[in-house]
Amino acid sequence: MANNPSTEKRVLIVGLGIAGMSSAIALKRAGWNPVIVERVRQRKPADYYTSFDRTGRKAAEKLGVLDAIHQRTPERRTFLQVDSDGQLVPVSRSTVKAGDPAVVVRSDIENGLWSAVEGEIEVRFSTRAISIEDGQRGLLVLLENSATGERTEERFDLLIGADGMRSTVRRRVFGPDERYLVPFDSMVCQFDLDEPLEGIDPEATIVMSETDRALGIFPFSDRSPAVRFAYRTKNVNAQVGRPPIQILREIFARDIHKPVVAQALDALEWTDDYLFDSVHQVHMDSWRKGRVILLGDSAWCLTLYSGMGTSAALHGGVVLGESFERHPENLDDALAAWERRLRPFIWGNRVLAGPLHEWFVPSRPLVTSAIAAGWKVSEAVMRMRPGRKD
Ligand SMILES: Cc1cc2nc3c(=O)[nH]c(=O)nc-3n(C[C@H](O)[C@H](O)[C@H](O)COP(=O)(O)OP(=O)(O)OC[C@H]3O[C@@H](n4cnc5c(N)ncnc54)[C@H](O)[C@@H]3O)c2cc1C
Repeated sequence: MANNPSTEKRVLIVGLGIAGMSSAIALKRAGWNPVIVERVRQRKPADYYTSFDRTGRKAAEKLGVLDAIHQRTPERRTFLQVDSDGQLVPVSRSTVKAGDPAVVVRSDIENGLWSAVEGEIEVRFSTRAISIEDGQRGLLVLLENSATGERTEERFDLLIGADGMRSTVRRRVFGPDERYLVPFDSMVCQFDLDEPLEGIDPEATIVMSETDRALGIFPFSDRSPAVRFAYRTKNVNAQVGRPPIQILREIFARDIHKPVVAQALDALEWTDDYLFDSVHQVHMDSWRKGRVILLGDSAWCLTLYSGMGTSAALHGGVVLGESFERHPENLDDALAAWERRLRPFIWGNRVLAGPLHEWFVPSRPLVTSAIAAGWKVSEAVMRMRPGRKD
């Protein structure tokens, strides 16, 4: 049965990212009338390397957008480790059929979702919620269009803050960032190569993990690989204000004799298109206050180390829609069911992100040595396995 717009409940979604679009599509199916506001003037692609695991693909399938998401998983998976001399040592090799996790750039997922949003769901660009009042008079939101300066006060039945790790909705409704952002004392700089590094297999995943610093090179099937530099620091605030290349040249000075490090730093020198940011998780005891909820990085940012941020945003939107389908008349029951179902999944991935961060950027020499020893075992096993050739 078609929904009648005049009787549909209205939901305001702040943020046109993966969390915002997935919840909009899911809630529209559950009979809601979503309006998405996005602060930027137009969609802009975030083309960084992203793993896209089974949970996310299943959620995308439920939303009807899986086929619209372009995937770039390489056919072969060769894993090389950079040793202390800079040699690339093969430590595992496989042929990927099912592709788990699949490899995409973030905008592949966003484009897939957009194909179901465009023309179907109201989207207002250059728009922010500048005040949110959830009281006796209902949920009233003052919206401002930063391009025209126009302000309108509108009534909604639900508001979803899907506005990322540094969420304004969270700050306004739940409290200051310091209460919820848990620092990893870690920085990341990620960018795509214009062309593959010289003399290095463009389909290989390359990892160098040294104490407090790491480099990863991640391949795609149909574009040049992505580079990720990461390092630990107790003073995240001091990392802004200087070009990342200057900082990284200092941090990786001890590794400059390794050809892959030298080439990756040179490539960064020549690009303006990089992401450089600190790493934080978001920990909250509840993602809900009255008629306002948070979803995606704003609620539970898992960090890039979990490899599950995109899947959690998709899955979170799908579970929200399903909860409203089960409890169409009762907001409290629907939101309680949503949070109850999602919490164990988010908690598990949040806990795993710590060890995965330690594995990629070890914090102590002892851990670095243990990881190097583990790689040696993998290398030996790989050499011994029948049918495998170096
Ligand atoms: C370098 C890096 C690598 C990553 N790698 C992976 C990976 O391999 N696998 C994985 O699963 N995840 C990865 N992630 C995490 C993943 O990208 C995020 O978890 C996911 O994109 C979160 O989506 P979101 O919609 O919650 O937030 P966002 O993508 O941050 O979207 C928020 C949206 O809200 C808008 N917005 C912000 N403030 C306002 C406002 N006040 N008003 C209106 N609009 C606003 C923003 O413009 C944006 O469009 C990585 C993240 C980074 C930074």
